[in-house]
Amino acid sequence: MLFVVPTPIGNLEDITLRALRILKEVSVVYAEDTRTTRRLFDHYGITTPLRAFHAHNEHTVVERIADEIGAGTTVALVSDAGTPAISDPGFLLVRACVRRDIRVECLPGATAFVPALVASGLPSDSFHFDGFLPHKKGRQTRLRYLASLPHTFILYESPYRLIKCLEELEIVCGVDRVACVARELSKKFEEVKTATLAELKTHFSAKEIKGEIVVVVQGAEEVKKPKKESL
Ligand code: SAM
Repeated sequence: MLFVVPTPIGNLEDITLRALRILKEVSVVYAEDTRTTRRLFDHYGITTPLRAFHAHNEHTVVERIADEIGAGTTVALVSDAGTPAISDPGFLLVRACVRRDIRVECLPGATAFVPALVASGLPSDSFHFDGFLPHKKGRQTRLRYLASLPHTFILYESPYRLIKCLEELEIVCGVDRVACVARELSKKFEEVKTATLAELKTHFSAKEIKGEIVVVVQGAEEVKKPKKESL
């Protein structure tokens, strides 16, 4: 069987007891970057063999790993941080296992977009997760589509492109749309700021932007609600 195991997105304490036990018990752990996972393993005294499974070899090794699991090897899959297959490699292997009727268990655990959404104060009853925007081709079309969605939407963004992203969002959503920038979640310099897109741009233009970032944006329907009901 295949275990999909979430690992911390910052604070090393954000891993479940079950995740640690599974990582110790399986025969092999496939990891996005074996050096990153080795540090986690060393911290928790895990000695299970590690093998590489990343975006560059994913397509070629998926069938072989699925064969291996089908033959009886118990395998865990981890990524560098958070939940595999969420803006990380994993989907292809899970799909290959599902197609072969191999049991897949995804453990609940760390992922960046859930704490960002919840801490943003934006409606979380219905939302759209879009991960990383395409850098060039299709970016504007995607942004216009997202701006039209009725509910909250969520993006992953690099610190180097945050200001550009906020400017593009201003164009398609309007400067007064409320959004949240969640930076360095669970880490020492965590910052979660909810404000209008214009205010966020001013705030983040005034300093060097570092670390990992989630952008959460109010949905189009929310903008139409009376002020006291929205942020
Ligand atoms: N698999 C991960 C998950 O479950 O969230 C996402 C991996 S993706 C390659 C990395 C992106 O996730 C970062 O560029 C950032 O947008 C977001 N991210 C990861 N850790 C974060 C953190 N501690 N604070 C804010 N965003 C984070």
